[in-house]
This record gives sequence, C-alpha cells and structure tokens, in this order.
Amino acid sequence: MAKDELMNYEQALAQFEVVIGLEVHVELNTKTKMFCGCRNEFGNEPNTNVCPICIGLPGSLPAVNKRAVESSIAIGLALGCQIAPTGRFARKNYFYPDLAKNFQTSQYDEPIAFEGALEVEVPSGNKFNVLIERAHMEEDAGKLTHIGGATGRIQGAEYSLVDYNRAGVPLVEIVTKPVLGAGAEAPELAAAYVRSIRDIVKAMNVSDARMERGNVRCDANVSLRPIGSEKLGTRTETKNVNSLRSIERAVRYEIQRQAAILAKGGTITQETRHWHEDRGATSSGRPKSDADDYRYFPEPDLVPVQPSAEWIESIRATLPENPAERRKRLAAEWGFSELEFRDVVNAGLLDQIEETVAAGAKPQAARKWWGGELARVANAEDKDASQLNITPAQVAELAELVESGKINDRLAREVLTFVLAGEGSPAEVVAARGLEVVSDDGALIAAIDEALAAQPDVLDAIREGRMQAAGAVIGAVMKAMKGSADAARVRELLIQKANS
Ligand SMILES: [Zn+2]
Repeated sequence: MAKDELMNYEQALAQFEVVIGLEVHVELNTKTKMFCGCRNEFGNEPNTNVCPICIGLPGSLPAVNKRAVESSIAIGLALGCQIAPTGRFARKNYFYPDLAKNFQTSQYDEPIAFEGALEVEVPSGNKFNVLIERAHMEEDAGKLTHIGGATGRIQGAEYSLVDYNRAGVPLVEIVTKPVLGAGAEAPELAAAYVRSIRDIVKAMNVSDARMERGNVRCDANVSLRPIGSEKLGTRTETKNVNSLRSIERAVRYEIQRQAAILAKGGTITQETRHWHEDRGATSSGRPKSDADDYRYFPEPDLVPVQPSAEWIESIRATLPENPAERRKRLAAEWGFSELEFRDVVNAGLLDQIEETVAAGAKPQAARKWWGGELARVANAEDKDASQLNITPAQVAELAELVESGKINDRLAREVLTFVLAGEGSPAEVVAARGLEVVSDDGALIAAIDEALAAQPDVLDAIREGRMQAAGAVIGAVMKAMKGSADAARVRELLIQKANS
C-alpha cells in the first residue's frame, strides 16, 4: 500500500484550522435486545441469541425494549440534552450481509435527545465545551469475520462468517456539532471526549463500556480549512476506532495527511477511512457523499416513543453525579495542587483515591500510594490500578501503619509487594513477617554501640556540632537492622549519648 505523505504536525497547525466531529456508539447493557426478547450477551456461541425478529423474517413484529429507552433518556440527560416528547423510529435501508433485515431500525429526524453539551478537559488542563447535536437510539448489526486474508478485512479474504448475536443489540449514537478551536489539542480532545462519554455511561451502568469489546466506539470526522477561512473543508470519517489512544493517533494522522494534500493544492476526498493500529495509519474506505440515500422512512411496525415528563424526571433523579462536577468537588475536598489533581485524573485514579479516603486515609497519603508505587506496578504489569490485587481499604490500612510509625516508607513498599502477592492485608503481612519498625531502645542502643566501635570519632564530631557526622552511624544502624530501625529515634539516641 502506497504510503501517505504527511506534513509536520506543527507546520500543519500553523497553516490550517482543525475541525473535528465525533460520533460515538454506546452499546447498552440491557438484558435483552432492542426489539425482541433475545439475550443481549457478549461471547455466546454464534447465532444462538437470535429469533425471527432480529433476523427480520417475514411477518415478525418488533416491540421496543422499555429499559433501552430508559437508558437512552438517561444518557441524553447526563449530556445535558433535551428529551423529545415524541419520537419515531425510522428504517435506514441498505444491504450488507451483517444486516439480515436489509434495513437498520434507527431514528432519523426525531432523535430521542438533542442539543446538549459536555465539558471536556484535556491533559494540559485546558477545558472545552463540546456541543452535542443529538443522541438517538438504534440497533447494532451482526458481526462478520473474514477468513483467509492477511489483514482480517474483507479484501483478500477467502470467505466470511456471520454471527447475528449482536444484531438488534441496543445502541445509542451520540453526535457532536463541529468542534472548533482545539488547535493542536484536537487529537487529545477527541480522546478525552470519548473517555468522558465512556466514564459517564459506565458510572450510570447503562453500558459495560468496554472499548476493547466495542461497547463504546468512535467515528472521528476530521477536516481542515486555511486559517481565516469561513468555509468548512471536506471531511473524512475514520470508522470504528475502539481505543482512546487510537482515536488520538487517528485524528493526528488525518490532520497531517490532509494538510500535505491541501498544501500542494490537492483536494480531500469525502470518504470513510479505516484506522490501522499496526502501522499507525488510516486507509481509504468507501466514498461518502452528504446525499447518501438510505430511503429513510418512518418504521410502520413500531409506535412512537412518547416519554411522559414524570418518567423523564424520575430518570433524571437516578443520575449519578456529573463527572465534571465530581472532579470539582473532589479537588476542593482533597486540597491537591492543580498539577497533582490533573495527574490523578489523567491516571484514572479518582475512584481508588476516593474510596481510600473514605476508608480513613489522608488524601495525600492515598494519592502517594496509588499515584506512586501502585501506579508503577500497574504500569509494569500493563493493568489498570483497579485490577491490582489490593483494595482501597488495604491501602488505607497501609497508610495508617505508616502514619502511626509502625512501619516506615521503605517497609511499606515491601509490605505492598506481599499484599499484591496475596499474603493478606498490610497489618497481616506486617505481623506474619515481623516487618515492624524497631523502636525498642535497647536493640537500637546495641546497634549504635556497634556502629560507634567502627567509627569512634563520631561522638566528638557531634559534640563539636558537626551533625553531618551522625549520618554515617545512622546509616550503619539502618543497614545492620535491614531498614527496620526508626531513623529519627536512632538520631535522638545518638545525640543523647554524645551529650551524656
Ligand atoms: Zn431476537
């Protein structure tokens, strides 16, 4: 495949304004599908969760899943949208082997939710208000697996398999208005926006929100226009990007690719594109015009959805705290510096720290352990901090052991390794392995005497006020006691001895 020419990123930004638009599909975690009673479950034997309705056999009649409507309204409300008092489903007609019905039941000109906004913070701390145009309900298609090709795509495949278990799974598609003004941060903003959506639907428990399973996936529209120009440029739509990192990379790639073409006087083809994680590039999909004709028409087999104001309000009352509001509240409660707080947000540690503080730890201690040693271990094992074999309550217990002087930082790190290895809670590990700090004066004085025997000049030095000389003895004692001595106490005892 011919390699695209790319313009240097900074150079592209100096010449062009970036406009992005994001379409996020959220798969709902309802028990059953959108229009039938088939189970909505991931990973079952292919074509076992199917029935005449979801594979569109003649004469079958769909019925709307109330829970799916409820979840869709909840998502709309969480994004600050208005909820339509009445809305019809529509048929979007097209043929593809993963769509046995030959049409997708969707919403067209009457989405259930519209006109919302979401405040999104990018890693630099800059905040953007992303305007939401609409959120509508639709059903997912089946899943095709192409066999025999090198890339897993249909091109070059010998044959394809289809699994209709996913056909009819409820989806909410959330569409932004064009997002301008992010400049060089447009790729980060795209990823941060999708992360926000994922966090919201996860906190609301309306979706499993696992991007690696396609529960949340993003189509990223990118266009450029010369700086100062009013007219929007031609856009491309990179389809089904399903990791945050890939979204950021795909948007950045499209900016650099389009800039190189435009700078040479070329034109951008309006088309869908595919993202290739392996080579970090997009490739051309199919041309897409604004006039694609899907022969939308109102679905005659379904009654309009008309949620009452009472129902909408009762759903609103169940919404969890808005993530942006929650961040504001926690930042004030914890008293972290702006930088400390941003690091915690970017590392995805809010939940862990909140629970650790709730279990009795001081916020700074919770931050220190989760953001330090535990983040390091999680990174090394390529896990989320939440997947580590330690609970927030155990981290709080560890912090308390340090706070009370039972163990020092060095011992605490050792204790952590044993907790992570499944040896029990921090207190249990300390007891079982005898890891407590030694503050028994008798043992410390014996160790000090031994160290002084090797360095007899130290006492004189201390008497003369040269305190740095004490360091060598304290170090020797710590070493002799394998780090379990209380260094502050050793220092006190040494000074007492010099002055006695
Ligand atoms: Zn079915």
